[in-house]
Amino acid sequence: MSKLIIANWKMNPKTAREAVRLAKVEDKTGVVIAPPLAFIDVIRKTVRHAKIAAQNAAGEEKGPWTGEVSPAMLASLGVRYVILGHSERRMKLHETDADIAKKIVAALDVGLKVILCVGEPLSVRKKGTIAAKRFVKDQLSVDLKGIKNFKFQISNLVIAYEPVWAISTSGGGKETPEDAAAMAKNIREFVHFKLRISHFKLLYGGSVSGMNARGFLARKEFDGVLVGSASLKPKEFRKILRAGNR
Ligand code: PEP
Repeated sequence: MSKLIIANWKMNPKTAREAVRLAKVEDKTGVVIAPPLAFIDVIRKTVRHAKIAAQNAAGEEKGPWTGEVSPAMLASLGVRYVILGHSERRMKLHETDADIAKKIVAALDVGLKVILCVGEPLSVRKKGTIAAKRFVKDQLSVDLKGIKNFKFQISNLVIAYEPVWAISTSGGGKETPEDAAAMAKNIREFVHFKLRISHFKLLYGGSVSGMNARGFLARKEFDGVLVGSASLKPKEFRKILRAGNR
């Protein structure tokens, strides 16, 4: 089965014109492009093979939430995925696990596929892998609380393990495919224990580049990768696509 490659552009690039140029490079089957909200419509109209993700969505259906965008609005634009619980939103915008739990239910409810990001910060990882595993389990335990008795398609749940210290813009530490795979096993076991589901997609994210993508994509524990900085560099992203046989 071919693996998923998610391109999280974050708050880049500066203009719609640059965004369209980048999307043309990344427009391949099995790629999901997450542009900033402002460019979603133009990018959806540009791509023919890639799917579109939003980088966030509200946990509310509608109403007095200035600046927020509902999952239904995104779905109406042709958005198929939404990234929730990204560490930047958790840390810089103080999103809590309870907020994320609410957003997950709201997104699944309108049929969006959720890419839930979890991962431990450096201060936890320094305490060792047992502490890191416990931290991630605690995140999942609250984040997935709302979907315990909620009917949704398992294919609509994607979990991305992103050790915060390995993300290029918040440490850029070097995670190995072996250690990440051990965490993946822990995540799968925990989700199975909590929700009785095991056939969800599990991704790795954190400084994935043209150099190391093959190592993560080759692991059976991972169904793909989530790429941040390298998704803004066409040359680098092409190497990642090649590592994923695209
Ligand atoms: C991210 O922020 O989700 C990410 C994976 O970024 P990078 O690839 O730049 O580490």
